[in-house]
Amino acid sequence: MEKSYQKLIQGNKIYAETKKFKDPEYFEKLSKGQTPEYLWIGCSDSRVPSNEITSTQSGEIFVHRNIANLVVHTDTNLLSVLEYAVKYLEVKHIIVCGHYGCGGIKAAMTNTYHGFVDNWLRNIKDVYHKNEDELLAIADKDERSNRLSELNVIEQVRNLAKTTIVQEAWSKRELHLHGWVYGLNDGLIKDLSVIHDGQDDIDSIYRFSINGTKTKAPVNKSTVPVVKLPLKKVAAKPKIQRVKSSR
Ligand SMILES: [Zn+2]
Repeated sequence: MEKSYQKLIQGNKIYAETKKFKDPEYFEKLSKGQTPEYLWIGCSDSRVPSNEITSTQSGEIFVHRNIANLVVHTDTNLLSVLEYAVKYLEVKHIIVCGHYGCGGIKAAMTNTYHGFVDNWLRNIKDVYHKNEDELLAIADKDERSNRLSELNVIEQVRNLAKTTIVQEAWSKRELHLHGWVYGLNDGLIKDLSVIHDGQDDIDSIYRFSINGTKTKAPVNKSTVPVVKLPLKKVAAKPKIQRVKSSR
């Protein structure tokens, strides 16, 4: 009985033969090294293959994919890919590409328990929480999740800009960050125009002073007067406080 995975091996033979037929030195040239201009951070979804949907060839895009295209600042896998792409491959553009109808986004919008993956999806819940007013104003369920796909991409581009790796690159050269969303129903990419090209595009507290770059100290915007506590300890009944979490 033919196993389903055998079609992949068969498909690979057709691929290799077709490439060699078109250019006999195709693989010889590719094996010498890679100089991709782009780093792609996309969703693991099988329907969003970076090369196929952008009509690009092997060697053109360095790729990292995870569920719902997240940029988490403690993810050593992503940070390693990012450092290698930026520092050694010297990519010129980093693209975070989400997609409409994303299962990860939809799952994060519910209270359903899935297991370990919910810890990962928690990052999307944070984006939801941050934009709850806007999202709840959208009546249609699909439209709401599609908007969260967009807001999630915007947040992940911001997260990229906050990394030391991107900011170190900005202190030396140009590096452009982009946020895109792909439509499963029409095959088209929408550019969200969330271009980040330098430290000016992020809030001051996230800026690092690297290689002599001058960053402005964060400004205290608080209008609440500082209350000095008395030095003498006053015994008081302990109060139970309910603290509402801030955004
Ligand atoms: Zn997805």
